[in-house]
Amino acid sequence: MRVEENESQAAKPNIVWLKLSDYLAMVRHARKLVPIEDCGLLAGTEKDGVRTVEQVFYLTNVDHSAEHFALDPAEQFAAVKEMRAKGLKLLGNWHSHPASPSRPSEEDKRLAFDSKASYFILSLNGGEPVLSSFHIEKQSDVSKEDLRIR
Ligand SMILES: [Zn+2]
Repeated sequence: MRVEENESQAAKPNIVWLKLSDYLAMVRHARKLVPIEDCGLLAGTEKDGVRTVEQVFYLTNVDHSAEHFALDPAEQFAAVKEMRAKGLKLLGNWHSHPASPSRPSEEDKRLAFDSKASYFILSLNGGEPVLSSFHIEKQSDVSKEDLRIR
């Protein structure tokens, strides 16, 4: 799946807005699944390089793994259909790291086929949860996006 975008490669990181209620819901949901990685899709709008997540989709990790995730294809299809019906755009995906920091693993990079997507990683490792958004170029070059929660 690709996020449609026709802007040229921006040097500045994308600004990504997430609602506090969605952030808290993601943390709650992901904590319940520990030690399995939680995962899903991010839908919203994009204007002038500013992305706004309007809806977080919770999908089944069909790998049922503590170290990687795979989105359920049927759920993915249904989520994208719902987004389109609501006029939302697929902005990227998210997953949790129950026991590792909030940065892409080697496998996360290898599977990051979409350089236009925002990849959220929610770390539950340690005390406070940490959520970051990443841009991954050529399945290898990782840069952090400007994730803002309000
Ligand atoms: Zn990961």
